[in-house]
Amino acid sequence: MLPIQEIVEKENLTKEDIVTLLTVKTKEEQDVLLQKANAVKEQFVGKKVYLRGLIELSNICGKNCFYCGIRAENNNTKRYNIPDEEVVEVIRFAKSNQFSSVVIQSGELCNFAFTKRITRLLEKIQNISEQFRVTLSLGEQSEETYREWYNAGAQRYLLRIESSDRELYRTLHPNNKLHDYEARLKCLQVLKRIGYQAGTGVMIGLPFQTFENLADDLLFMKNLDIDMVGMGPYIEHEDTPLYQYRESLLPIKDRFDLSLRMIAILRILMKDINIASTTALQSIDPEGREKGLLAGANVLMPNLTPLKYRDNYMLYENKPGVFQDEEESVVYIKKVVNSAGEEIAQDYGDSLHFKKKRQF
Ligand code: SAH
Ligand code: SF4
Repeated sequence: MLPIQEIVEKENLTKEDIVTLLTVKTKEEQDVLLQKANAVKEQFVGKKVYLRGLIELSNICGKNCFYCGIRAENNNTKRYNIPDEEVVEVIRFAKSNQFSSVVIQSGELCNFAFTKRITRLLEKIQNISEQFRVTLSLGEQSEETYREWYNAGAQRYLLRIESSDRELYRTLHPNNKLHDYEARLKCLQVLKRIGYQAGTGVMIGLPFQTFENLADDLLFMKNLDIDMVGMGPYIEHEDTPLYQYRESLLPIKDRFDLSLRMIAILRILMKDINIASTTALQSIDPEGREKGLLAGANVLMPNLTPLKYRDNYMLYENKPGVFQDEEESVVYIKKVVNSAGEEIAQDYGDSLHFKKKRQF
């Protein structure tokens, strides 16, 4: 077996190499991997962090993913929908705090009223400022809807594949048309075709997930030539069907380290994409997001959802920042960036990978 040092320097990583990197046993070996990823990041995207304000627009969801705390059949969640005026307030706040971008995320609804509501909201955001990037993360929609939102001003879209393995995907979702792997994959292809900067991602440490699955997930992102990635540890939620498998999971600390290694390997595989250091990392380790940055991530998504809604967007347990308002969130995030020895970028932060593709 090649020592880790040699593997990380290889031109092309094979699936076997990736599994070796994912399963390193010592801290020294893990550090070799993370340091290499950090060096690649510095060389290709710089020591700059892009801030995206996260707005959790609504927890009303028509789907029943087995892992998610806001699934439709969970009756223990109080449902909310933030009115447009309050969203516009958050956008103003974001703009005046040097954010050049927000992510609007929500439970998944597929109906005419929802489509139009988002279109109108995008138009209102455009009216505040055309100099603002909006990322949507509103699940699977028709091509028409994706086009309508693109034309109304959304430039980026995040749709995690959750797991690129068809079998595992089926295990994690109800077996019906609403939760179909092929349909989700097709959405990602449509988003790219329309011209969005397309983002995807997976959960790490899921029940039944193998290291081979995770290696395939990384190769899937590379093959899809994705522009942005947000991935983080799976964290169990008591009111979900997957909770029954909690005893079979990797210990939470191991899921955390595995997530750092996933970020690091992805940075080595895809040198100029945008990679988010996700909130789920922070829910395990208070310094989780700094550690994500040092492992190769270059995007942070401080939560700007008004506080009164925050504790109802519980995708998983112990989601952090529930008691931190928008102002505190911004102060905190600046501290996170400083303590990782980096600085907040002032430009829009379009994926360099995406921009380069556009030049040809
Ligand atoms: N409804 C949209 C967006 C909101 S869910 C969608 O599903 O695409 C956003 C992300 O939260 C999901 O993609 C999933 O990866 C993550 N998530 C849900 N439940 C989780 C859990 N228990 N642990 C970690 N991440 C979870
Ligand atoms: Fe709904 Fe998204 Fe949660 Fe699935 S992951 S239940 S689509 S909010």
